[in-house]
Amino acid sequence: MVFMTNRAKRAFAAVAMIALIGTTSACAGTDAGADDGRPTVLAAFYPLAFVAEQVGGPNVRVTNLTTPGVEPHDLELTPRQVGAIYDADLVLYLKGFQPALDEAIEQAGGRSLEISMVVPLAEASGEPDGHEDGATGTPDEHGHGADRDPHFWLDPSRLAIAADAVAGQLSAVAPDQSGAFAQRADQLKNRLTALDDEFRAGLTGCQRTEFVTAHDAFGYLARRFGLVQVPIAGIEPDQEPSAARLQEIQQLVRDHHTTTIFFETLLSADLAETIARDTGATTAVLDPVEGIKDTAASDYFSVMRANLAALRKALSCP
Ligand SMILES: [Zn+2]
Repeated sequence: MVFMTNRAKRAFAAVAMIALIGTTSACAGTDAGADDGRPTVLAAFYPLAFVAEQVGGPNVRVTNLTTPGVEPHDLELTPRQVGAIYDADLVLYLKGFQPALDEAIEQAGGRSLEISMVVPLAEASGEPDGHEDGATGTPDEHGHGADRDPHFWLDPSRLAIAADAVAGQLSAVAPDQSGAFAQRADQLKNRLTALDDEFRAGLTGCQRTEFVTAHDAFGYLARRFGLVQVPIAGIEPDQEPSAARLQEIQQLVRDHHTTTIFFETLLSADLAETIARDTGATTAVLDPVEGIKDTAASDYFSVMRANLAALRKALSCP
């Protein structure tokens, strides 16, 4: 993947260096709107952009590389976005989740936060608990993303860990605002703790614990709150189930008297509808918060609270 000559890369790198020491970057066309001197943060997908916006506040310019309402797993970068990566003061991403981005960030060589360096990730196969003490921050050098579950933000306590790390990186970019970043990170963590408490209280004593999801995105949430996720597709939404797996899911739905098959608005609902029709269940939305269509109308907290309500209904919680 070659988007620019080495000479152009060096020029971009020089611009990025200048941006890092606090001078206005001169690189045009990286974003809608002129560069206004605020530090620029590029986030790989919505939950990281949300954290950057919450912690950075009005004095930081945050851009989400994944277009709102687009499924982020298979992000492909435009040359313009690659230029923006070279130009950004800080890039937030998750290695292995969006491989095209990993490569571009590595080549750009600017300041970046690879979120799994601070937030422990579970094995993709679904280990009982992903908090592997001692394993944090020492991921394998090659291809380690492929066998880990990226969907950490669906456990509010893990997203809270990201808040402090983002505040630390922003403080390195704009040291004069470090107090404000730390304060906003604390506020975000308090809200996430309250959300975590709501989930725990709301999902206690339910008649059922199994819930069927469109893709394997809710493993962290399930483990955090003592539930059992039954995913139709894999960690990657395009990992479609075999006929045998579909039969297995249908049997499980019947055995556990599951009333609801969840689907996602950014993915096809065909399989969920088929399973629901064949088992007499209904369908409902459970949103993995990977991409929010209208960020003015909803955000991480409102979508998560809608998820909690949907789960409480599906699991007949008291
Ligand atoms: Zn996903």
